[in-house]
Amino acid sequence: MRVVDEFFACDVFSLSAMQKYLPNVVYKQMVDVMENGKELPKEIADTVANAMKDWAIDKGATHYTHWFQPMTGSTAEKHDAFINPAGPNAVISDFRGKELIKGEPDASSFPSGGIRSTFEARGYTAWDPTSFAFVREKTLYIPTLFCAYNGAALDKKTPLLRSLDAINKSCLRLLRNMGYDVHKTDVTVGPEQEYFLIDEEVYKQRLDLVVTGRTLFGSNPVKGQELDDHYFGSIDERVKAFMEEVDQELWKLGVYAKTEHKEVAPCQFELAPVFSSVNLANDQNQIMMSTLQRVAKHHGLVCLLHEKPFDGVNGSGKHDNWSISADGLGNLLDPGKSPKDNIRFLTILAAIIKGVDEYQDLLRLSVATAGNDYRLGADEAPPAIVSIYLGDELSAILRSIEKDYEYEDKTKRKLKLGVSAMPQISRDTTDRNRTSPFAFTGNKFEFRMLGSALNIACPNTFLNTIFAEEMDYISDQLESMEYEDINDALETIIRKILKEHKRILFSGNGYSEEWREEAKKRGLLELSTTADALPHYTDQKNVDLFKRHRIYTMEELQARESILLDTYSQVTGIEARTMIHMLRKQILPAVFAFEEKLANIITTKHKVGLAAPMEEKLLKNINVPLERISELMDVLESLLTKSQETSVLRARFCADEVIPLMKCLRELTDEIEKNMAEEDWPIPDYNDILFKSMI
Ligand code: ADP
Ligand code: MG
Repeated sequence: MRVVDEFFACDVFSLSAMQKYLPNVVYKQMVDVMENGKELPKEIADTVANAMKDWAIDKGATHYTHWFQPMTGSTAEKHDAFINPAGPNAVISDFRGKELIKGEPDASSFPSGGIRSTFEARGYTAWDPTSFAFVREKTLYIPTLFCAYNGAALDKKTPLLRSLDAINKSCLRLLRNMGYDVHKTDVTVGPEQEYFLIDEEVYKQRLDLVVTGRTLFGSNPVKGQELDDHYFGSIDERVKAFMEEVDQELWKLGVYAKTEHKEVAPCQFELAPVFSSVNLANDQNQIMMSTLQRVAKHHGLVCLLHEKPFDGVNGSGKHDNWSISADGLGNLLDPGKSPKDNIRFLTILAAIIKGVDEYQDLLRLSVATAGNDYRLGADEAPPAIVSIYLGDELSAILRSIEKDYEYEDKTKRKLKLGVSAMPQISRDTTDRNRTSPFAFTGNKFEFRMLGSALNIACPNTFLNTIFAEEMDYISDQLESMEYEDINDALETIIRKILKEHKRILFSGNGYSEEWREEAKKRGLLELSTTADALPHYTDQKNVDLFKRHRIYTMEELQARESILLDTYSQVTGIEARTMIHMLRKQILPAVFAFEEKLANIITTKHKVGLAAPMEEKLLKNINVPLERISELMDVLESLLTKSQETSVLRARFCADEVIPLMKCLRELTDEIEKNMAEEDWPIPDYNDILFKSMI
C-alpha cells in the first residue's frame, strides 16, 4: 500500500498542482486569492481554467461540474463534457475562463423561497476560488456559490463567506483596539460526523428507511446500548474494510479524515477530520457524507445519516468544533500562559457568552430539522435549550471577575485578572459535560446540537455573525471609554457582560428535568420543535443583526424561513404517508393472517372441549391496539388532506397534530409487533437490522 503522504490530496487542484500547471505569476495571484483573501483578477480566469482542465484531464476527467449547495442542504451538480466541436467529426477539449467563473444551471427546481420569481427565473453559479476544485469519478468538481439574477443568495455557502468577512472585520477591529498589529483572522472548524451502518439487504426491505431515512415502526431490540459495549469497541472486518476505503477516498480528496470509532448505539460510528478553515471544512464535510454513503454500497452496507433512524437507541449528531485564530497570535480561544493572553482570551470569551445568550433562538433554529427534533431534548443529545458549559475552573475565574474579588487557584495562588498569570485551564476540567449544547473544550467551543445530516454552513454563518456583532459591541464600548489601562477598561466591560448574561452559563446535567425548570426561571428559551424555532428567523432583532453585517437581506431571510418550514411539513407528510402505506400494504395484512391463525387454533381447541386462554389473551392483546390503529389511521389520512394557509401554520399543524398522531400509531403498532411471531412479522425488525444482519 502506498504511504498516505504520497497520495494525500492527489485528486485536488491543490496549491502544489497549481504550481505545476500554472505560470508562476498566475500561481502567485491564486495564492493571494486563496490565502490572503485578495480578489481574483478577471484576466487570469482563462489561464486558470485551462490549467485546471489540463490537470483534470491528466487525472482522467472527461466532464466538469459547478458543484453547489442549494437551500435543500445537500449538494447539486450538473455535468458538462470538456468538448467543443472543431469542424465535422472533430472535437477539441475546451474549458474557458467564463465557464469556470460562471454557470447557469437550470435552477427552476431548486427551492428559492420566492426569491427568483420576483426577479428572474435564472440562477447562477459562481466559482468560489477560496475552496479547492477536485476530481471524482472522472469529473472535475468546481466549488461554486449559487445566486439569483439580482445577486440574492440561493445557497448555503454565500452567507457563510459573507459571515467570514464580517467576523474578520470585527475581530481585527477589536484586536487592533487592544493594541495588536493583525491583518487576518481564520475561523477553524472540525465537524465530527456520526452515522449508522446497516446491511443493504435488510435496508431494502424497509420502505420507511428507504423513503424517509428512519424507521417509522419497530419495538425495542432485545439488547440496546445498556451495556455500553459498542462505544469504542473493536471494529469488525466488514466495517473495517469499509472504513479503510472511506479513508483512502477522503485522503485522495485532501480531507484530513483522522479519528474513527464505534459510537454508543449498535451499528453507530463516528468519523472526525482534523479541523480546517470553515469554508473548506464545510465543503469537505459534504464530501465526507457523500463518500460514506457511496463507499458503504461497495460493502453491501448502507450509511444512514438521519438524526434518528431508530427509536430507543441514540441518534446521530455532528459536533461543530469552532474556533478563531489571528495572524501572529494563533488560536484566540487558547487561554494561553501570560497575562496579556488572558485578557485577550477573556474578552473574546465574553463576546461569545453575550452572543450565545442574546441569540439563543438563532442557534437553536440553525439546527432545526424534522429529524433533529427527535434527538434534541431526548436523553442522548443536548436539550433544545441553549446554554454554555465552561468547566469549573473557568467558571470560577469568571465569577471572581464578575464579583470583583481575587481568584484563588488550586495551588493557592491569588490571581487578579490581567495582572497575574491565569492558571492553565486544563482540557480535563473543561471536557466533562457531555450534556451541554455549547461547551468550551480547552481551546475551542463545541456546538453539539447539529444533527448528523445537517449542512454545517448555517450554524457557522450564525456563530460568525453573532460573534462579529458582540466583538463590535466591545469595540464600541472601548472606543467610547476613557481609560489609562486597557486591562481595567476591558475588565469593566467583561464584568458588565457577565452580570447581564451569566444566566446562559450552566454546568449541571442538561438532560435533567430540573434544568428545564431552572432554565425557564432564568428566562432561557426552550424551542422544542422546528415549528417553534424557525419563525424566529425573521424576528426584528435577527433581521437587524443580519442586515448590519450584510449576511442576509430580509428577502433572503424570509426565503430561508419559508423553505425550511415547508421542508419540515413535507418531510412530515412523506413520513405520514409512508406510515399509512406500510400499515395498509404490509403490516395489517400480516396481522390479520396471524389473527386468523390464532382464531383457528382457538376454534379447534374449543371444538374438542379445550380451553384456549393463552391464545385468547394473545388475540385480545393484538386486537385492542388494532382497533385503535384503524381509527387513528383514518384520522391521520383526513389530516393529510387539510390545507393550511401559510408555511408557519402548516408547520405548526404538523408539530401539533400530525406528529403526535404518528407517535401514537407507532406505539400501537410496536405493541402488536411484540405479540406477534417473528416469522409472521412482514418486515425486518430491530433485532434483524441492528444485530443479526451485521454478523
Ligand atoms: P473530542 O471532542 O472527541 O474529545 P478532539 O479534541 O480530538 O475530540 O477534537 C474534536 C474535533 O475538534 C476535531 O475535529 C479537531 O480537529 C477539532 N479541533 C481541535 N482544535 C480545534 C480548533 N482550534 N478549531 C476548530 N476545531 C478544532
Ligand atoms: Mg467532540
